[in-house]
Amino acid sequence: MKKIAILGSTGSIGTQTLEVIRENKDIEVTGLAAGTNVDLLEKQIREFHPNLVAMWTEEKAKELKSRIRDLDVKVVSGMDGLLEIATMEESEILVTAIVGMIGIRPTIAAIKAGKDIALANKETLVTAGYIIMPLAKECGVKILPVDSEHSAIFQSLQGSHGKNELKKILLTASGGPFRNCTMEQLATVTKAQALKHPNWDMGAKITIDSASMMNKGFEVIEAKWLFGVQPSQIEVVVHPQSVIHSMVQFEDGAVKAQLGMPDMRLPIQYAFSYPQRLKASFPRLDFKMCTNLTFEQPDTTRFRNLALAYEALHKGGNMPCIVNAANEVVVAAFLRDEISFLGMSDVIEKAMSIVSFVAKPEYEDYVATDAMTRRIAQELIK
Ligand code: NDP
Repeated sequence: MKKIAILGSTGSIGTQTLEVIRENKDIEVTGLAAGTNVDLLEKQIREFHPNLVAMWTEEKAKELKSRIRDLDVKVVSGMDGLLEIATMEESEILVTAIVGMIGIRPTIAAIKAGKDIALANKETLVTAGYIIMPLAKECGVKILPVDSEHSAIFQSLQGSHGKNELKKILLTASGGPFRNCTMEQLATVTKAQALKHPNWDMGAKITIDSASMMNKGFEVIEAKWLFGVQPSQIEVVVHPQSVIHSMVQFEDGAVKAQLGMPDMRLPIQYAFSYPQRLKASFPRLDFKMCTNLTFEQPDTTRFRNLALAYEALHKGGNMPCIVNAANEVVVAAFLRDEISFLGMSDVIEKAMSIVSFVAKPEYEDYVATDAMTRRIAQELIK
């Protein structure tokens, strides 16, 4: 019986994680945390019977408590609540399916408490990979990638011995809904258009990041930390059909790939079952339908965010944290119609040149960088 706690159980990854658990009777839910969605969390509690649950605000936690007063479940709130869930004695794996930088502290706490991490939250490694990976090694815990691209790389690397063999990571990207748009068209695209991803159904923030290719930039940064490679060893390949979830090339030129339907449940399940594979009833790839698999180079002139993410990775230190914080601010503003699609990259680039650079940041430096960048990005949007 695997015992699992989930941060962000009401979101896109969180709900799909619970679908996987529903199909696997030997996985038990120990704790669930959500932001604001009391209705859904209540349903999840009644179906999956966790011992401990968290809502972000005290007000929502109170509302939940009164709704589930017939159950013997402890309700907590705020960052302390997330930390309590992350470190629950009875759980073995923490799924970090929360969105934003807020996921970092609970992840660090879980690692220190010896929990393996099924990592969905992008911001954790993008911002603090420099702290997380050595800490995980020191504490002997596994960081199991949930993101489909990193899971594909992770799966493709199984059976190879020693990282010397790995020459290159080929990170596939769908190119998003604006792959074929001109600069003129990109200048006027709307949030409704950006929220329509051609292949994947995801939360709003990551869908906008996919449209702007910041998501791919973040994945490049995550890949560096997860697989211990240099930035020059990570190549983005645009593959609009999203059938190949990513590939690795070895020193002898051989390329291994993982293919599948665009369905997050498989990488989520693999994170739980690794190194085994479990039966699954998810839809399967039908090669008769894959008659036209195509590949292109990404265009970093139209999709500047990808170039900015590579630049941040090369500079290192707190620069990826600056990019992440500025991006969180501009994406939220784009979703409120307060900034244009192309304007988002302008603000990120300016923030990168304004915020103080710290070459070897500690956790407190990340917190300070995040706060300063958010303030500056907000000013730049006005
Ligand atoms: P969603 O927006 O769909 O869900 C976010 C979840 O986090 C919700 O459960 C939300 O709760 C919860 N949450 C937000 N703020 C808080 C808070 N302060 N305290 C507690 N819970 C909070 O996001 P996704 O599922 O799409 O993405 C989650 C993470 O996974 C992101 O970092 C994303 O980049 C990454 N990811 C997502 C993929 C996908 O396919 N969706 C693929 C790969 C990575 P509530 O709804 O109740 O407010």
